[in-house]
Amino acid sequence: ASATRDRLRIAIQKSGRLAEPARALLSACGLSWRESRDKLFCYGESLPVDLLLVRDDDIPGLIADGVCDFGVVGRNELDEQAGERARIGLPPAYRELRALGFGACRLMLAIPESWDWQGPAQLQGLRIATSYPAILANWLQAQGVDASVVELSGSVEIAPKLGTADLICDLVSSGATLAANQLKPVETLLQSEAVLAGPVREFDDSRAGLAAMLLRRMDGVLKVKD
Ligand code: ATP
Ligand code: ZN
Repeated sequence: ASATRDRLRIAIQKSGRLAEPARALLSACGLSWRESRDKLFCYGESLPVDLLLVRDDDIPGLIADGVCDFGVVGRNELDEQAGERARIGLPPAYRELRALGFGACRLMLAIPESWDWQGPAQLQGLRIATSYPAILANWLQAQGVDASVVELSGSVEIAPKLGTADLICDLVSSGATLAANQLKPVETLLQSEAVLAGPVREFDDSRAGLAAMLLRRMDGVLKVKD
């Protein structure tokens, strides 16, 4: 239920892995901004396209609530929050419009180095620590495995050492963090990268033309990149 507006609003991460590449991509699309003093809001100068600088976790909700029209966010975060919505019976409120080619990582199961991996059936009855409970629960269900999901908001990789879980399900890029905690990756649940997320429904005001132009320019930039 977003109100009629004549400017587009894009949410990006304020600081962190996706912040700089997201701004660089939007700049390459010809956008420029005049930053507010607190730098939470950047007013679009070249086009009526403003930025909201937020925590990545907040981006799906901002789109769902119609506060922002688009967002640049990891597929992991988008899918997790879509999964949570689905579990409580809410309809889809955003969708992935484009894969952006940066922020690549995988959501993986990792087990203690000393274990032998024989496949998902081995997980029966075990405790798995993760910050992605919805994605993990869906995957376990698809595998027909009954395991308990221990939700942790950070430092997931130390859970086995602390005894709060038997293994973990976490984002992996180089694998260095896993190795440092004597864990080894065994299954990929999700291949992730930064994506452009947008609303499920088409705009019915002047944002429609702006959105189409932005997507066209982005396609041009993404094509040149690969
Ligand atoms: P925020 O303060 O915005 O909540 P954060 O700590 O949750 O920041 P970052 O660590 O900057 O977020 O990660 C943002 C996104 O970068 C992740 O959701 C994921 O899509 C991607 N990413 C790429 N590689 C990794 C990695 N090795 N570990 C974690 N995230 C990664
Ligand atoms: Zn976050």
